[in-house]
Amino acid sequence: MGRSIYFFGAGQADGDAQQKDLLGGKGAGLAEMTRLGIPVPPGFTVTTEVCNAYFAAGKVLPAGVEDEIKAAIGRLESLRGAGFGSPEAPLLVSVRSGARASMPGMMDTILNLGLNDEIARGLAQRTGSERFALDAYRRFILAYADIVLGVPRDRFEEALGRARRQAAAKLGVDATRLNSAELERKVPDSALDPESLAALIQRQKDIVLGATGRPFPDDPYAQLWGAIRAVFDSWKNHRAEVYRKMHDIPEAWGTACTVQAMVFGNLGDDSGTGVAFTRDPSTGERRFYGEWLPNAQGEDVVAGVRTPHPLSRSGEGGGGGVDDASSLEARMPAAYAGLVEVQRKLEQHFRDMQDLEFTIQQGELFLLQCRTGKRTGRAAVRIAVEMAKEGLISQREAILRVEPGSIDQLLHPSIDPNAPKDLLARGLPASPGAATGQVVFSADEAERRAGQGRAVILVRSETSPEDIHGMKAARGILTARGGMTSHAAVVARGMGKSCVAGCSAISVSQGRMTVTIYDEHGRATGVITVKDGDLITLDGGTGTVYLGAVPTIPAALSGEFEELMTWADAVRRLRVRANADTPHDARTARNFGAEGIGLCRTEHMFFDEERIQAMREMILADGEVGRRSALAKLLPFQRSDFVGVFREMAGLPVTIRLLDPPLHEFLPQDDAQLQQLSRATGVSVADLQRKSEGLAEYNPMLGHRGCRLAITSPEIYEMQTRAILEAACEVAAAGIEVEPEIMIPLSMTRRELTLTRALVEGVAEKVFAEKGRRVDIRFGTMIELPRAALRAGELAEEAEFFSFGTNDLTQTSLGISRDDAGRFLGAYVEAGIFAKDPFQALDVPGVGELVEIGRDRGRAVRPGLKLGICGEHGGDPSSIAFFERAGLDYVSCSPFRVPVARLAAAQAALAAESSRGPRATD
Ligand code: ADP
Ligand code: MG
Ligand code: MG
Repeated sequence: MGRSIYFFGAGQADGDAQQKDLLGGKGAGLAEMTRLGIPVPPGFTVTTEVCNAYFAAGKVLPAGVEDEIKAAIGRLESLRGAGFGSPEAPLLVSVRSGARASMPGMMDTILNLGLNDEIARGLAQRTGSERFALDAYRRFILAYADIVLGVPRDRFEEALGRARRQAAAKLGVDATRLNSAELERKVPDSALDPESLAALIQRQKDIVLGATGRPFPDDPYAQLWGAIRAVFDSWKNHRAEVYRKMHDIPEAWGTACTVQAMVFGNLGDDSGTGVAFTRDPSTGERRFYGEWLPNAQGEDVVAGVRTPHPLSRSGEGGGGGVDDASSLEARMPAAYAGLVEVQRKLEQHFRDMQDLEFTIQQGELFLLQCRTGKRTGRAAVRIAVEMAKEGLISQREAILRVEPGSIDQLLHPSIDPNAPKDLLARGLPASPGAATGQVVFSADEAERRAGQGRAVILVRSETSPEDIHGMKAARGILTARGGMTSHAAVVARGMGKSCVAGCSAISVSQGRMTVTIYDEHGRATGVITVKDGDLITLDGGTGTVYLGAVPTIPAALSGEFEELMTWADAVRRLRVRANADTPHDARTARNFGAEGIGLCRTEHMFFDEERIQAMREMILADGEVGRRSALAKLLPFQRSDFVGVFREMAGLPVTIRLLDPPLHEFLPQDDAQLQQLSRATGVSVADLQRKSEGLAEYNPMLGHRGCRLAITSPEIYEMQTRAILEAACEVAAAGIEVEPEIMIPLSMTRRELTLTRALVEGVAEKVFAEKGRRVDIRFGTMIELPRAALRAGELAEEAEFFSFGTNDLTQTSLGISRDDAGRFLGAYVEAGIFAKDPFQALDVPGVGELVEIGRDRGRAVRPGLKLGICGEHGGDPSSIAFFERAGLDYVSCSPFRVPVARLAAAQAALAAESSRGPRATD
């Protein structure tokens, strides 16, 4: 282990921005800002290595670290001219967590550490404000008790309520009938006088004594060791674990711990605290943006307890409404100017949008944090493109800056402006996108109901990190309190979820929300009650809440988005196709830039009312003659479907997979359907039942399906081939270029392909003769069984292309049924057996190796063999990176994923260029 402690202060720092691994993002940012000459309260960072050593030793700090920390405190004391534990000139510190990747609010931070009764008196004297000193003290006890001593915050609620009522009585407010939220509004923290604070502190200490059996620690160093340990421990708390899993952050990284001299934003009206972004994190617009609260400490802004004010005079900066006079620019012009200067410097230095925390103590500005700002997908695209145009970054960097998954939200629907809607309330546009769902009031309930497949909107007064699982499960989030940088807003933007925050017209309690309705003059005219389970719709882009479900329209893509896609397409090597079964899907895919269809499933075409009947007749027919006559009824339907798809995909390849699922999937599910079929066919219900029982299988996934159907009943594939080629001829006759590719599912031997190929070619010759024209067709197969990958050499003798069906290839390689995996796959991921769900992110070492084997053996026989993939993995960025390294020709994914895949493919190409990636081996 290297050094344990990195000091920063007075313009010098041991560490710098490169050392995020060691110092965490926060520690590295503080060191770098210090080096840049930006005002930062001095402090030091205990490294992530110390954290890991602490856990390795069974939660014991490594030898010598405590002495090093004492020495660093000594340096802090002399820089500040104060003493840690000194009542005359008290040095207070914050103890802050900070991992390599930013995990906002997931871990713990303790402010105002170093206080006891005597020191609090000293602080009161020194600052001239007893109220301030006691407020800092009671906040410290509360946080310390919760985070370090494990006494939950709500145990103190009652005591705080009592203090508020005491203060209310002195203010002449009748508090008897107020609930706790109303009481808090009438008697905010700032209205608690020294006397009630002193009483509150005593009560809090009593609560701690009662709960832990020990007095609250008075010794500042005892407090410090406890806090550092708790910060390390918070790396493994439940919410941090959930967050790490969602964002693929390894547990092995550990967190750093920064101890920093306190500055106070709550020292009066010339003090304050806030959060700022160098560009708008929601839209990406280039304007200084943020929120602040006068006379407050850091956590107040994020906690959403008070609704903050904008930074800039234009009023746009914050979420609090358009109140110019409350802006920082108006209230503290000098500090504002300093902040503008700092933010400019930081953005230029880091060459990316920054998210800043600042505090102003009696007019003096201090920066407390800077990091790359989280942003919506829309903002990410705009910022990347504009920064490239400003010359701050290159076009390639711009491509690499946008997380492919994040552009998904741009492609999602928004509220139809012309649809009738029932406006309920307005809040802040915290995270864009439209979402409709049932109202739920707790995170657990959100998770439970989403698990049943229901769309839910999580409604809370404000969210806290404990709500993270519910936010993840919900379609959208609505909060009554908090600004644009509240927990709800930040987390929702990160997840790409619709969020309306700070909707002050609503009030949430006991399983219902009441919404006060205002007229255009802002007068309350009525109240609506919304209950658990009622439908509402959020428009996170405008901050509007509607009653009921409101229709949505497809996304309109911005100019910046098109531009970024053009840059991406220029560096991309992998082609991107779509999985599309209908002309409508084909058009959507093409609009999103698909370069063909990689998988057109024909079975979906059989489920329409008229067709399913003919399909069932075919399945239940007694012999080939019966089957053929039923198939003849299906032919015109199939043909017209293909005509539509070919037209939409003019000039681009269309891979059509012949029938794949087992036939019993098409059979009647209930008595009514059975009777209807019996009437139509004249076969008795009993006979039909017997037949359909005869078709049932123990394990349909491995049963009579795919090309196995063609071996027993070739007439099905014959009809399909005819439909495809008649359609192709018809479209070609209209002067439209067609590129049909016929794909055989589930093959594993050469013989299967020899037979099906002969069948396809036989039909083709007949159709071409009938139509008096030929079209080029390609014949190929899916590779979705391990045997097919292993015997790819012989399959390639028949097939001109392979499409790796990685869904089934994953099922059959792992021997795991995707439909049953839900019961244990979570545990597998938890236990670290799989890093991620292998049905979402390709199992590169296993299934990936089969893909490579298939590629090598196939191309050895047929050098020009075209290779694609058409599983769920075709739209997954990490899997796409592998397909790029593996040298496939194309990926195919759902139409809405096409832009994601284009961007991911471009990033993969850039990555491959700078280093040829490792092979798919462990
Ligand atoms: P998080 O990672 O949850 O944002 P932080 O460590 O950044 O936690 O701290 C929480 C809040 O306390 C922030 O608003 C921060 O600005 C404020 N804060 C932290 N350290 C200090 C300090 N030394 N002086 C004043 N405010 C501080
Ligand atoms: Mg912070
Ligand atoms: Mg399959």
